[in-house]
Amino acid sequence: MTNQENPFLALAAPGIAGLTPYVPGKPVAELERELGITGSIKLASNENPLGPGQRARAAIAAGLDELGYYPDGAGFALRRAIADHHGVSPMAVTIGNGSNDVLDLVARVFLQPGTESVFSAHAFAVYPIATQAVGATARIAPARDYGHDLAAMAALVNERTRVVWIANPNNPTGTWLAADALRTFIEALPKTCVVVVDEAYTEYVSEPDFPDATRWVESHPNLIVTRTFSKAHGLAALRVGYALSDPRVADLLNRVRQPFNVNSLAQAAAAAAIGDSEHVRSSVELNRAGMRQITDAFKRLGLDYIPSVGNFITVDVGRPAAPVNEALLRLGVIVRPVANYGLPNHLRITIGLEAENARCIAALEDVLKA
Ligand SMILES: *Cc1c(COP(=O)(O)O)cnc(C)c1O
Repeated sequence: MTNQENPFLALAAPGIAGLTPYVPGKPVAELERELGITGSIKLASNENPLGPGQRARAAIAAGLDELGYYPDGAGFALRRAIADHHGVSPMAVTIGNGSNDVLDLVARVFLQPGTESVFSAHAFAVYPIATQAVGATARIAPARDYGHDLAAMAALVNERTRVVWIANPNNPTGTWLAADALRTFIEALPKTCVVVVDEAYTEYVSEPDFPDATRWVESHPNLIVTRTFSKAHGLAALRVGYALSDPRVADLLNRVRQPFNVNSLAQAAAAAAIGDSEHVRSSVELNRAGMRQITDAFKRLGLDYIPSVGNFITVDVGRPAAPVNEALLRLGVIVRPVANYGLPNHLRITIGLEAENARCIAALEDVLKA
């Protein structure tokens, strides 16, 4: 529906007029209903093809008996498990209905009309939505080699800036920032803004100078680091993520947080998953092999791609990607067009199981030579 057609817009909060809804990857069931096909695969939302590990599955099964009760609104056991995992106080932890929820809490606490947030071109789509939804202004820095250009971002920071958003690694580009550069950037920011380092894919990265920004939280009071259980932990459907921050920042985030934002199965599964390093390790190994399988195929097919340290890869199909995507859908292969990220000739492909990767490559090859 267009703004002209919607009379309620005049009643809506500032910022709503400029919003368009986030478009998620199409669910398999929806595609199959639309096309009357079966046996499709989804490599579109950076989910873990192994799903949750045994420990999380057992916690979910045990949690069924408690479903008649509200969850623990304070998330005591989960916050304790997260705090122990990182060696910080539970007071530093804010839990969210996915880390998207936490990003939204940051926007609601620190942004309002007249203030600004800064992020990079091709950065995660939730940063502009969270900014716009509260009527603040987005300042978007040009990218360098598809990645965050920290100097260009710093140049946009001013006295109205309240939030700087950084995804490390970034989705959908899979690019990353080294520890020294990121830390220097954070330390040079004025104390009048907070910086969010979104580490949704951190488990997948093995580069030696890739930072763990959670280690900097204690010494950098304006730093907020977010993590999720949706990717390497395989719990995307349950919606659970968290922020680590200075306890005084966590206090403000928790003031706007809905008391029951994380349901009891999610809390139980996440508390079990965070200690399951074996499952994370298997997931990361599977991803490494799949990444090699897919990039080898791109080289063979002569396709340019953006080198990625995540569990996905964004490939230049050398022509407008929308019709290529449509043709892949008809073959039952769901990937993600990224024109909304300013990349109209690219598709983002999640690394799946070996057979899924092979099927995706074969379909892409068919479509591109047709
Ligand atoms: C997937 C993703 C998230 C996590 O979202 P959830 O709400 O935790 O499922 C956060 N940031 C980035 C950059 C992502 O790609």
